[in-house]
Amino acid sequence: MFAWRVELVRIGTVAPGILRSLAAELAPCLAREVTVAAVTIDPAPAFDPLRRQYRVDDLLLALLDPPPPAGVKRVGVTNLDIFLPVFTHVLGLAQHGGQVAVVSLHRLRPDEPDHPDPAGVLRRRLLREALHELGHTLGLVHCTVPWCAMRASRAAEEVDLKDAAFCRTCAGEVGLAADCPCAGRDTGDRELPRVEKEHEG
Ligand SMILES: [Zn+2]
Ligand SMILES: [Zn+2]
Repeated sequence: MFAWRVELVRIGTVAPGILRSLAAELAPCLAREVTVAAVTIDPAPAFDPLRRQYRVDDLLLALLDPPPPAGVKRVGVTNLDIFLPVFTHVLGLAQHGGQVAVVSLHRLRPDEPDHPDPAGVLRRRLLREALHELGHTLGLVHCTVPWCAMRASRAAEEVDLKDAAFCRTCAGEVGLAADCPCAGRDTGDRELPRVEKEHEG
């Protein structure tokens, strides 16, 4: 397995603590180095005035300028509502087998006004979404194991059903050692079919 590491990049206004805590959780989970870039990407060119949302594929292109060094997976983190023309919204998007991905906090915040721990829920969901999109950059497709990070999700409640871990099949495909914290529990004898779907979520 080639060596790779993760660089988190802020897109637009995001509290620095969110990227710092994501880095602090991702690093031990993946057993990889995770850093936070000093730069912030201006999302303005990706704004669609008709939809009043931001085109996620344009944000991916912005993350490629300049291209990440070899071995770096660059993950943009944003508060913005992001979309692809065929979808009302997406939670994130990745360059499949590439080096860049975007995750959005916009739809990950709990709706309930009196939620006891909104920041904790947000952190938990963001970690799962980041793992999911990183999995795509490593070449993984969507997985049918219900708790696997590579399960597709278009709503925050679906993200809650997943572990902060890849199933053994997904973890094995991208060379994550079985003793790595994000290489989750065994799926037992359930050899579930894997499906290539649209890459939303
Ligand atoms: Zn899986
Ligand atoms: Zn996906």
